[in-house]
Amino acid sequence: MPSRAKKKSLSIIIYMSLDTRSLLVALRSSSLRDELKVHYQPIIRLRTGTIIGYEALLRWHHPKLGMIPPDIFIPFAEQHELIFEITQILFDKVLRDQSCWNHEKNTLISLNISAASLTSNDLIELLKPLVSDPEISNKKVILEITETATLSNPENAKALINKLSNEGFRFALDDFGTGYSSLTNLRNLRIDEIKIDKSFIQDLDHQTHTDKVLIDAILSIAHAFGAIVVAEGIETEETLLQLKSMNCYAGQGYIFAKPMPASAIDDWYEQWPAQWRQLAHQKSHAVI
Ligand code: C2E
Ligand code: CA
Ligand code: CA
Repeated sequence: MPSRAKKKSLSIIIYMSLDTRSLLVALRSSSLRDELKVHYQPIIRLRTGTIIGYEALLRWHHPKLGMIPPDIFIPFAEQHELIFEITQILFDKVLRDQSCWNHEKNTLISLNISAASLTSNDLIELLKPLVSDPEISNKKVILEITETATLSNPENAKALINKLSNEGFRFALDDFGTGYSSLTNLRNLRIDEIKIDKSFIQDLDHQTHTDKVLIDAILSIAHAFGAIVVAEGIETEETLLQLKSMNCYAGQGYIFAKPMPASAIDDWYEQWPAQWRQLAHQKSHAVI
């Protein structure tokens, strides 16, 4: 079974084995704050290997239920109106983590914003302490939103995005290509970055001509709207090479690093130039 399918079925098994009540009790538990951890995954400029920033990704280690993946607990939390609290925990932890890593304090930090938070003015309140911290400013924060999130209440979403954009926040359209209104969204919203969903990227080298044409089209659309493109889920050198040859601006994926705790970032950063040199060397020998 391909690894993606395996991961998905594993998530389903975890979900099925958890009854709704225990998940809800666990999410409402006072120890949730300690059990949630933030991991960070670097985003790399593909031409130069420069580290553009890091995406913050939540992890939940429940003492009895085990590791619960975010794509299980986040939708569940949204459904039960617990997402506000979780976003608050995420922001607090990201703030605290800033002091953990010593290099490149100027890199960007990408935060995932759920649909429910996007249509609520509380998001502005939540963001205030984050950007009043001297380590972080609104210019450093990229808020990642999915197309689906912007669709649930488009007028509210547009108003909030405009307001926050005026204050210097940047927005990324996440999982691009999986929604249904990509072009309309791009015309209506102030989007600085487009993240191509990993389903288009993974095994790009094995995909058909149509998939490559599709990615080329996404790149052209993004350029036309003045947005940069980040390709998610780069796992192989072949994929990296393809994306470079298509002039994709940036990428993220296991080939560079898996999401890691803040305490591991400095070590990863130290070895990154050597890792990049090795990737670049291998690329120069590859045949497109
Ligand atoms: P996403 O925002 O699309 O995040 C990217 C996901 O792809 C992450 O999964 C990341 O670990 C995974 N990934 C990165 N590179 C590779 C790769 O090369 N190969 C593969 N197979 N996967 C890769 P993760 O951390 O399990 O997160 C899943 C989703 O949960 C996220 O998808 C996001 O929608 C949601 N999520 C995670 N953290 C948060 C959060 O703090 N708030 C909200 N609202 N949603 C979150
Ligand atoms: Ca994301
Ligand atoms: Ca994504």
